[in-house]
Order: sequence, then C-alpha cells, then structure tokens
Amino acid sequence: MKTLIISDVHANLPALEAVLEDAGRFSRVWCLGDLVGYGPYPNECVERIIELPGIVCIKGNHDAALLGEIETRNFNDEARQSLFWLKSEIKERNFNWLSGLRERVILEGVTLVHGSPRNPIWEYIFGEVIANENMSYFNTQICLVGHTHVPCICSIEGDDLQSTEFKRIEARVSFRITQKCILNPGSVGQPRDRDPRAAYLIYDDEDETWTLRRVGYDINRVQKRILAAGLPRIHAYRLELGK
Ligand code: ZN
Repeated sequence: MKTLIISDVHANLPALEAVLEDAGRFSRVWCLGDLVGYGPYPNECVERIIELPGIVCIKGNHDAALLGEIETRNFNDEARQSLFWLKSEIKERNFNWLSGLRERVILEGVTLVHGSPRNPIWEYIFGEVIANENMSYFNTQICLVGHTHVPCICSIEGDDLQSTEFKRIEARVSFRITQKCILNPGSVGQPRDRDPRAAYLIYDDEDETWTLRRVGYDINRVQKRILAAGLPRIHAYRLELGK
C-alpha cells in the first residue's frame, strides 16, 4: 500500500494538483498541516484535501492562526495581511473542518506533527541540536514533521545525530529507514530550499521504501492569482525562487 505524505500546501492549488497527478496511485494520504495561509486558493485546497482517500490531517500554525487559536504577534506584516484576507475568504464549512484537526496523531509506528514533537504548532526543527532535543518527545520509530518547508531527515546513528537535507535532487530519491528519525517531506505549496518545485513523500509499505519527490507546476498561474487577490507581492515572487 502506498501512502502519500504532503505538508504546507499553503493554499496553492496548482502545486497540489501537480503532486496528486505525479504521485500516481496511492491508498491514503497524511497531511502535516498548513493547508492555508500565503496562497490564493484556500477553499479549493481544503475541499480537495478533504476528499482524498484515507485522509489523516493535522493542524499547522497557519491553520491555527485562521481559527484564532494562537497569537499572531510573531507573524510578519505580509503574513498578517494574508491572514486578514484568508479570514474573509474561508467558507464556514471549511473553517469548521479545520477546527476539528488535531495537533498530533500517532498511527502504525509513525507520529505526525506540524512543527516538532515537543511543540507541534510552533517549533521549527532546523539544525541538529533542536532535532536531537526532540528525539525523546516521540515513542514511535518515525516522526513526520513539516513547518520548515525544507525536505530533511534527522536520524540517530550510534551516539550521533545525522541530519541530511535533500538538496537539488532530480525527480526522486528513495531510502529505507532503520533508525529512529525525524523526517520532513518539504512543502507542496511554498518550498524554501531554493528549489521551486513542489515537494512530497511516498511511503510504500510493501518494500518499506520512502521516496521523496519533486514536481514542477504552473507557478505563473498562482502568481497572477495572488496579485489579482491583492495579496502581498512577496508571496508571488518567492514561489519562483523557492525561498
Ligand atoms: Zn508552513
């Protein structure tokens, strides 16, 4: 059975559609939060994700911000401006669905959180020190996280923590997991590793492989819609830079 793992879609429908097409056949989907924020297709993305097979979805900080559950003082001006727009756009039934999401889900040896197992909504796992500190906050072999928008695996090798970013891969890279690890699939809708292609992960439980994939999409279409909606220009520009 194949599981599609996506994170940080950020209301980018063309990126989401490209991933769903590129992924081929899959039986279920795990979504690691931040369905909305920044992008111009919040309702379309939530509605598309709701209908995916076997969907398990957790809540990200942008979802929580929309729901009014967290302080947004740490958001920069542009993020606050797009949050204001989002609150006026989101349909009630999509808002209600997002409000039912959990911050942490544990299933079949895998923990799903948005930020980190220590602080599921806010903490960024950047660097080996923070990754190492977080290793004792989950009891499964694997913890899937999003939030940084950078595909990465951090695992314990002996007494050391190894951290590997998947930089500038071709279309895909496959690996097996034998150690306890924190694994980040990167972002579908707003990659920040200087690779503008949408990032996602496939887990195949038959041969126990994890495959990180990248796929291009129509960035120009999203940029036009961002500008037409009156959203901050930076959120259009950064998509082509992948940062
Ligand atoms: Zn995000």
